[in-house]
Amino acid sequence: MNPFNELGIRHDIVNAITELGFEKPTPIQEGAIPLLLSGSNDFVGLAQTGTGKTAAFGLPLLELIDYSKNHPQALILCPTRELCLQISNDVKNYAKNLPNVNVVAVYGGAAIVNQLKEIRRGVQIVVATPGRMLDILNRKAIDFTQVKFVVLDEADEMLNMGFQDDINDILSTTPAEKKTWLFSATMPREVREIAKKYMTDPKELTMGKQNTGNVNIEHEFYTVKARDKYAAFKRIVDYNPEIFGIVFCRTKIETQEIAESLVKDGYNADSLHGDLSQQQRDKVMKRYRDRSLQLLIATDVAARGIDVQDVTHVINYSLPDEIENYTHRSGRTGRAGKSGISICIINSKETHKIRQIEKVIGKSFTKAEIPSGFDVVEKQLFGLVHKVHHVEVNDKQIDQYIPRIMDEFADMSKEEIIKRFASLEFNRFLDYYKNAPDLNATADDRGRDNDRGPRDAGNSAYTRLFINLGSVDDFNRGDLLGYICNNSGISGRNVGKIDMKGVFSFFEVENDQVEKVMTGFKSVDFHGREVKIEVSGEAASSGERRGGSGGGRSERSGGGGYQGGGRSGGGGYGGGYKGGGNRERSGGGGERSSGGGGFRDFSGKSREERSSGTGSSPSKSGSGGERRRRSS
Ligand code: AMP
Repeated sequence: MNPFNELGIRHDIVNAITELGFEKPTPIQEGAIPLLLSGSNDFVGLAQTGTGKTAAFGLPLLELIDYSKNHPQALILCPTRELCLQISNDVKNYAKNLPNVNVVAVYGGAAIVNQLKEIRRGVQIVVATPGRMLDILNRKAIDFTQVKFVVLDEADEMLNMGFQDDINDILSTTPAEKKTWLFSATMPREVREIAKKYMTDPKELTMGKQNTGNVNIEHEFYTVKARDKYAAFKRIVDYNPEIFGIVFCRTKIETQEIAESLVKDGYNADSLHGDLSQQQRDKVMKRYRDRSLQLLIATDVAARGIDVQDVTHVINYSLPDEIENYTHRSGRTGRAGKSGISICIINSKETHKIRQIEKVIGKSFTKAEIPSGFDVVEKQLFGLVHKVHHVEVNDKQIDQYIPRIMDEFADMSKEEIIKRFASLEFNRFLDYYKNAPDLNATADDRGRDNDRGPRDAGNSAYTRLFINLGSVDDFNRGDLLGYICNNSGISGRNVGKIDMKGVFSFFEVENDQVEKVMTGFKSVDFHGREVKIEVSGEAASSGERRGGSGGGRSERSGGGGYQGGGRSGGGGYGGGYKGGGNRERSGGGGERSSGGGGFRDFSGKSREERSSGTGSSPSKSGSGGERRRRSS
């Protein structure tokens, strides 16, 4: 027997939700449905958004309505138009196999006339935002005297938005004996008071720890200097080529500015905020839902209640003013059992706010580091390789060209051809990121050093070295440390941070040991491949890093360079640090991705196609072998 049947839901509804992919009840559904089906209790459900709340109250409601009567029997109040539409659509979907079910959505920002018309036709379930509902009640256009159930969904949000008085007025038109079901992600004092005021001995159900964030969401924070925030944000996006995210800003203006900058920089983004007309908002939301938008830049209010499937990341570009709003923001990801990541980009003064949020959500944040330019390049490269591997081949169409293509490549080996295809896109990212500075705020930037990791130590006693061996060569940090010490004769105590990458790594050694390491590795080979050690352009000292990102001369311009050693017989790839201007606009915090290439292909188009042709062509970024030239 289907588990929803076992909970007491009729076949017609179970068939409809099975089509929606509901195979078994979520925990809140399992707990709430049997309780609510009795129809005889008030109820308080503390659950995060995305846990299946709508069906938890929607399915019992559908069981309790008398469809032979066409007057309002249930009222669902929720904070926003988006949520209102979502709930009414969900309920209609659950009820699609039932005859004579009338659900009406009542919300502001749309013609009231049509809503009044629908109400006149007869309705059993009204889903409404408080403002418009009150308007309709004041017109005496609806009669709530026979309402049996009232649902207050996202009660904390409704109160946050100042709907307390409207809710009082609306509820005063409903019978005293109705049952009230309240759902809230958080339980501040105001919500407790509502429960006390309107409910008698409510049954309570708390999913997980009170106020706790969804368990499927990981929380990370990055500490950057204020002026690097935008560049850092873009780097995080570039490091996650498949990102499908919602980015939260504090103000409408900020959402617009960020969205505009992103579009200029060739990203697929748009803003959602309260100054847009309803039509404009619908358009943006449709594009996001259809996934033709990759990044939705939104204010808290505009994004409230949004239920879009498979949001991979929530990015808090600015922390919310109200700490409790963090739960609502992060709840846009990790929905329906999927996992998600919620990221905060903060400056050093905001660390205490992270601690406050941790207390509210009952979960710890991971302190993460803004990926280096190399991390991004590597990630993008392997993303591309993966994509090539899995691309759908249209044999019918491409076959006619194959002989000519084969002809063109007749004089090249398989390795050479693969290398060239990969380089097409790779060169552009490499070119863009080769001078990218470290964007992580250092201990000095922070003004205090509680959180500092080894990298932040700013120890100018160390030099950062590049080695063309990495995790793909089956090294872990310990192995590499041993390998370095064995070959150079230095002690492990002389080695600082080891930064393992895929085909190469970085490690820090005390300045007076550098020569020893260089000499020690002069003629070492690893499985027939020459091992290369070079001074990295990325200084180990935080002081130098700051100098570099502060504008003007590139931090790496005199910093030597590295040559990718390659994984197979000297091939592979590697990025030559070259001297030259720092591409990051330090003052404006803008890391322009005009030359940034089109790896981050989300909608089937490359970034160049999407942007207005600002990208430098691959040929401009230097070709294959030359790009590995060393600078000195
Ligand atoms: P909600 O918390 O009601 O906004 O639900 C979050 C998402 O989970 C929605 O997209 C629902 O369609 C989905 N969902 C709800 N219940 C289930 C279930 N039992 N099985 C699978 N998905 C569900």
